[in-house]
This record gives sequence, C-alpha cells and structure tokens, in this order.
Amino acid sequence: MKIAIVGAGIIGVTTAWELVSDGHEVSVFERRGAAAEESSFANAGVVAPGYVTPWAAPGMRAKVLRSLLSPHGAIKLRWPLNSRDLGWMSRWQKACKLETYLANRARMQRLAFYSRTRLHEVTEARELSYERSDGYLVLLRSKREKKLVQPGLEVLRAAGSVFREVDADEARRIEPALNTDTELAGAIHLPEDEVANCRQFALLLKWEAEALGAQFHFNCDIAPIHRAAPTSISLASGSQPLRFDAVVVCAGLASATLLRPLGLRIPLAPVYGHSISAPIRESLNAPRSAVMDERYKVAISRLGQRVRVAGGAEIGGSLSSMNASAVQTLYKVLHDWFPGAATLQSGVQQWKGARPMLPDGPPVLGASGVPGVWLNLGHGSSGWALSCGSARVVADLIGGRDAGVDLEGLGVERLVQ
Ligand SMILES: Cc1cc2nc3c(=O)[nH]c(=O)nc-3n(C[C@H](O)[C@H](O)[C@H](O)COP(=O)(O)OP(=O)(O)OC[C@H]3O[C@@H](n4cnc5c(N)ncnc54)[C@H](O)[C@@H]3O)c2cc1C
Repeated sequence: MKIAIVGAGIIGVTTAWELVSDGHEVSVFERRGAAAEESSFANAGVVAPGYVTPWAAPGMRAKVLRSLLSPHGAIKLRWPLNSRDLGWMSRWQKACKLETYLANRARMQRLAFYSRTRLHEVTEARELSYERSDGYLVLLRSKREKKLVQPGLEVLRAAGSVFREVDADEARRIEPALNTDTELAGAIHLPEDEVANCRQFALLLKWEAEALGAQFHFNCDIAPIHRAAPTSISLASGSQPLRFDAVVVCAGLASATLLRPLGLRIPLAPVYGHSISAPIRESLNAPRSAVMDERYKVAISRLGQRVRVAGGAEIGGSLSSMNASAVQTLYKVLHDWFPGAATLQSGVQQWKGARPMLPDGPPVLGASGVPGVWLNLGHGSSGWALSCGSARVVADLIGGRDAGVDLEGLGVERLVQ
C-alpha cells in the first residue's frame, strides 16, 4: 500500500519504520526541519511500564489544589484557561473515578509492556546504539511517602513489574552519587526499567526506515484532511493533493486540527513540562541511570555524557513562555540529589514541551472510522514508553492482522460524545 504519515515525532517515526518493514511504500510529512523537534525532543526518556498510568486518577483534584499552594508543586494552572482547556479538565475530572482509572491504567500498562518488548526487539534487530542505561529508582524522601506509595506497589505487582523496596543504604549502593545531606527514607528499585534518549532513537530509526525506502519530507506543513478526499495530502499553504491508499495521523497535539473536518473531535490538550540538560562535570557525582523524586515528580536521567532533569505539569499557558518557577524546581531537585554532577554555568539546554494528552489517559490507536484514515496519537506523558508498541499495533491493523496486544479501550469510539 502507498501510505502517508503526518508527523515525524517518535510516534510517526516508529510507525514509518513498522510500515516500511511490512513492505509498504511510506512517505512521512513533517512541518519541522527534522524528526523529533517537538514533544519528542528532550523528554525524560524513562521507559518504566509499571509507572505508565493515567493522570486522571482518584484524589487528583486534591493533589492539584495542594500543588497550587506550593512553590515547587508539580502541577500549575496558568490563567486564564481557554475553553479547550476547561472542557478538557471537566472530562479529565470525570475520568478520575476509581473504576474508570483502573480500567485505563490496565489498558496503558498492557500497551507499555508490549511496547518495551518491541523496543528491545527493534534495538537488537537493527543493532541500534543510543544513549541508554538500565534501571529506575523512585526516591522516597520521608516515611510518609513510603506509606503513601504502598497502594502503588500493589499496582506494580498486579502489572507484573519486577521491583524491590530498598532502604536508603541500598538505594545509595544502586546510585552511589546520591547526596547524603538530603533526607532519604527509602526507594523502589525497578531493575528491568530503563532510561534512553528518545530523540536519538527517533533519528536512528528514521535512517533505518529510509534505508528500507521510506521517504521523509520535511518543512511540509500539511493541511487539515478533506472530508471529500481523506487519503489525499496537501500543504497548508496550498498545493496539488498527493493521493495515497491510507493516511496515518501521528501529529501529536496538532492531530485534533487535522482531523476536525472529518467530524472527529479529539479532546487533546497540551500539558506542558520542562527539562534541563547539562554536561556532566564529574561522572562519579552523576546518576548511573534514572531516578524519580516522588515528592516533586521530577526525573533525573543519565543520557550519555549529560544529565537531564525533567518534570512539571502546566495546564494553560503556552509553549513559547518558559515557566521560571518550574525550571527552578528542576535545578533544586538536581541540587538536592546530585550536587556537582553537572556544569550549570554554560551549555545548559532548557526546554519546554507539550505532552499531547487525552483527558482519560490512553492513546488512540487504529481506524478513525473514515475509510483509509488511521490514528496513532494522544500518548500524553508516556509517548516514548508506548511508541514502539503503538506503531506495531497500527501496522498490524493496517495490514489486516490481529494486534499482538488487547486493544480494548484504545480506539477512538471511546472519545465520541
Ligand atoms: C517534560 C516532559 C517529559 C516527558 N518524559 C517522558 C518520559 O520520561 N517517558 C515517556 O514515555 N514520555 C515522556 N514524555 C512524553 C513524550 O515526550 C510524548 O508523549 C511524545 O513525545 C509524543 O510524541 P508524538 O510523536 O505523538 O508527538 P511529537 O513529538 O510532538 O510529534 C508530532 C509531530 O507532528 C508534526 N506535525 C504536527 N502538525 C503537523 C502538520 N500539520 N503537518 C506536518 N507535521 C505536523 C510536529 O511538527 C511534530 O514533529 C515527556 C514529555 C514532556 C513534555
């Protein structure tokens, strides 16, 4: 089949790879000048399937309110919120009901475990070498946090995650550079999870896809899809339509606009986060892999010769304005745990990204309901962890095969009001 993909973030690139591997003729259209320039650019890089979970969870409302009162709170609202954000928040709140949350969490984790397996298969098959480290350590600063995390451990058990509760000494053996001046009550160690450079992986896999014949067209801003010719692609600035047998929409946050003329109202909203990436000054003072500060919801990751600190959730606001207090929180958490690990005077990359988030949590995979138009979008805070599995699922569905994972609740039908 002749297939067009819109978007060359991690989702578009993995989809291109799977489809071209299946023998399709693949063309990818991307409005930016390179792959992984938007949400997939500088994320935390964590691949921890047991921690892939909807943000729409019981108790979230109270968490948001508490967070708003704290200068280093993980969640920020930027007023005024527009009607899209308000509508999204109302659907988000409805999805916080316990039974809805449990069902969505199971759907996401199934896909996340499947995806991690696929990531490893692709990495081995193509001998891809990118910045990655094994293991994930969730740091619990106080006894209270150790207690609060207990229901979460049941979730990890149920999901089949391999993990161990460790005391502070053991945590420091796993991550020897952890600052002894910062209170640490214990940690959860997940040895089978990992951290890896999402953008680097996307660039490598793009080359692999190109080697099999996939064509990437950059600086091509694609117009919303026409109802009369849904498998034709044209530029937003106007151009002759190019005809395909199928179109896969992998345009992250912009997918909603592309699909609106088809009558599909996808409730996507940006949940912004920040990261800083800095060169390592002294290896011995840096993390070996990834740690997550459970109190501040900030991840500190080792990516080759750099350390990346990422976190925060901002609803409202815009991509163009950095939130200084959110960035300050990243520096604070880095300083708390790994003082002296990184050179911060120069060469620090500060980044703000938008998680393409659906209100209930899971992404949307598969048929759109319009013949020839397929969806792979809405991966929220876990797009890297879910990418390889989501791409394989969509390729299988396009090829008329059963997917390798249960797709209940991952279709677009659930979002139609
Ligand atoms: C601070 C932060 C930390 C994160 N940490 C993690 C983590 O640890 N683990 C994890 O799994 N996930 C993490 N994420 C989430 C992850 O980064 C996203 O889920 C993922 O990058 C989404 O990928 P995507 O391909 O859907 O979107 P994008 O990467 O945004 O790709 C969409 C692409 O479509 C293109 N596009 C849009 N419209 C058009 C158009 N009209 N024509 C042509 N091209 C178009 C865009 O230019 C873009 O390149 C994090 C996100 C943030 C912000």
